[in-house]
Amino acid sequence: MRNKLYSALSSFHFFFKKKYAYRLRVLAYHTVPDEIVFEKQLIYLKSQYNIINIETLKSHFRDNQPLPKNPLLITFDDGDVTVLSKGLPVLKKHNLSSCLFIITGLINTSKDVWIKRIEAKEMKEGKTYLQAREVVKSFKQLSNVERLGRMEEYPEVSKPQLTAEDLKELSQNGMFIANHTHTHPMLDKCSPEEISEELTEAKKVFENLQFSGFDVFAYPNGNADEQTTKILKKFRMELVFLFDHKINKKNMDPLNISRIRVDSDIEMTEFKAKVSGAHPFFFHLRK
Ligand SMILES: [Zn+2]
Repeated sequence: MRNKLYSALSSFHFFFKKKYAYRLRVLAYHTVPDEIVFEKQLIYLKSQYNIINIETLKSHFRDNQPLPKNPLLITFDDGDVTVLSKGLPVLKKHNLSSCLFIITGLINTSKDVWIKRIEAKEMKEGKTYLQAREVVKSFKQLSNVERLGRMEEYPEVSKPQLTAEDLKELSQNGMFIANHTHTHPMLDKCSPEEISEELTEAKKVFENLQFSGFDVFAYPNGNADEQTTKILKKFRMELVFLFDHKINKKNMDPLNISRIRVDSDIEMTEFKAKVSGAHPFFFHLRK
């Protein structure tokens, strides 16, 4: 069913690619479980799109510099170690820039993000992955205080995380290190004080590590709201990214940049349907 849907949609990919030739596409990846499939995707992207970096996007907004035709930016969220171990070698081989949104509180630790702690315990207690995801979903609706209280029932999960050295290596090889908060809370469920605290802590880490990307930000889970936007402005964010599975409009707002959700291990038909804009278009029609 799923495959049929994507092959039907991917037959529209030429149409959508042309229709949106002057609009920025930003891809949002998380992990790189399979470097062979990921490389196929990159080869396809290189043949169809002009892959830009964060600096090009900044000067587009700052100095009105036009973007190339078919512009595309590659991003990763959460800083999974496979981005370094399997993603970077392939990106480097093809000489491609990208951007990594990191959870600053996880750097140099062996802890996993709170979402995985819930999944781990629920599945250990017999729930399926989908059932565990439902629990995660319900936690995303809680106020941040309540969520943190209930998280005490979920023990830490051990998982290797990127170190400061790893981030330097990524940064020296074309990956821009950017901000995804300190602990990945749902910002629309936080108080103004909690939001400021998240950003202040992240800022300290960026300063300590001497990375300039604090002001390039992606909302955890894509949860944007007015209160958070106001605070992000106070912290002088230059580029802010969503997680809305959309292609950008012609006149983009640098503080509301859309991203298309992709995975690095999906079939080419699904990948083409998503990147071209065919899938995002029908996805939002259905809602
Ligand atoms: Zn995230």
